[in-house]
Amino acid sequence: MSSPEASPPSLYAAREPIFPRRVKGKFRTAKWWIMAFTLGIYYLTPWIRWDRGPNLPDQAVLVDLANRRFFFFMIEIWPHEFYFVAGLLIMAGLGLFLFTSAAGRVWCGYACPQTVWTDLFILVERWVEGDRNARIRLHRQKWNGEKLRKYGLKWTVWFLIALATGGAWIFYFTDAPTLLRDLLAFEAHPVAWITMLILTLTTFAFGGFAREQICIYACPWPRIQAAMMDEDTITIAYRDWRGEPRGKQSVAGNGDCIDCMACVNVCPMGIDIRNGQQLACITCGLCIDACDDTMDRIGKPRGLIDYIALTDETRERQGGAPIPVWKHVLRPRTILYTALWTGVGVALVVALFLRSAIDVNVTPVRNPTYVVLSDGTIRNTYDIRLRNMQGEPRWFDFSVAADAPLNVAIEGVEGARIEVPANETAHVRLYLTAAPGSTAAEAPRSEVQIWIEGEAVPGAGSPAGDRVARNTVFNGKGG
Ligand code: SF4
Ligand code: SF4
Repeated sequence: MSSPEASPPSLYAAREPIFPRRVKGKFRTAKWWIMAFTLGIYYLTPWIRWDRGPNLPDQAVLVDLANRRFFFFMIEIWPHEFYFVAGLLIMAGLGLFLFTSAAGRVWCGYACPQTVWTDLFILVERWVEGDRNARIRLHRQKWNGEKLRKYGLKWTVWFLIALATGGAWIFYFTDAPTLLRDLLAFEAHPVAWITMLILTLTTFAFGGFAREQICIYACPWPRIQAAMMDEDTITIAYRDWRGEPRGKQSVAGNGDCIDCMACVNVCPMGIDIRNGQQLACITCGLCIDACDDTMDRIGKPRGLIDYIALTDETRERQGGAPIPVWKHVLRPRTILYTALWTGVGVALVVALFLRSAIDVNVTPVRNPTYVVLSDGTIRNTYDIRLRNMQGEPRWFDFSVAADAPLNVAIEGVEGARIEVPANETAHVRLYLTAAPGSTAAEAPRSEVQIWIEGEAVPGAGSPAGDRVARNTVFNGKGG
């Protein structure tokens, strides 16, 4: 029994630095390629140009906050089309569910930005300080000229990578060449500087110092993923029934594990997979590469550590053979995720091709609902917000469809047509009038449809006869 004076045990544990050893193998190679691919996309995308004509930006991917639009190559998303962004987010979520239920934490191990940048920062660290043993020695030695020089160089390169990362992010929100010129001339908007500074510092801290702590303590994804995995999910495991008891191969009765610690030394999370599956394991496969290398050297079959499903583990323990991978992957849960993902994707593509290039809002003026003109004509007023979603000025014709005859007029213009400049929104006041004594004038309310037809713009891709209708009501004297 503890004495009343005894202080409670501390819940804080200082971080143990991890110095992953260099490793070669197919999973390491795959990670290099994925790193080059994802970083290449991230850094280079804002510099891709895309000709949209004289009135629109020529940046292929641009979140144009000032004009509230998102450009993605030939696709242009307006604020009222946010459902496209929502659909893409849903697809991204379903894709993650699919990959997690089929192959565990592959996102974490290969493509998560935290993993990719940490990998890059470790690469720099190894380049400056050497491999695992040299880095441990440098870490333990007192501060001297060598340590100052190497740490200084490492932190400088880290900072430059972090700066490029923060800089690349802000290039997605405005014309990249212009912003770069403004940054170099110290004329960029303060928001650009602040955003770049925050992203630079977080990248520097997360990739350089926090590393695996982000995955273990800060990220909610490992906890959520556990709910998506089942006994058929392929994940990393150590074949202890083959490896144990571990030790020297010269000792009779020992398993295949020679306890060389290669799997532990290469692990970026600093864990020993031989202790069983753990929350910290991001299933990066580097321990497989390390152990396969050891098995090659001692002349044992590869796969002591491997991607393996729990059901296969049970089978193998009983002397059976694992079932083919595709049988693990193709199961109701993954088929359902694939079907949902495909369904959302197809719906987005169909919506993209069917969407109208006219966005219009019709708001009846209610105060008063109608006015009687000097000659007895009944007039209703409507406020119209009409957006020209094309990169060229465009004419729009207004008309009305109703059971009883009505006339259309627009305040301040001759006839019922207006021109809206490229990519702009017009606010117009539209009048519907019913002749004295007509059905619409005498009835309390009549259902009407206001039609807006956009004139085709040569070369702008607008279809001839592109027209939309909005339902509304006409109030007569009977109301
Ligand atoms: S245990 Fe293996 S798969 Fe898991 S994080 Fe470490 S090296 Fe990667
Ligand atoms: S690398 Fe393989 S042989 Fe070496 S300790 Fe790990 S499991 Fe055992």
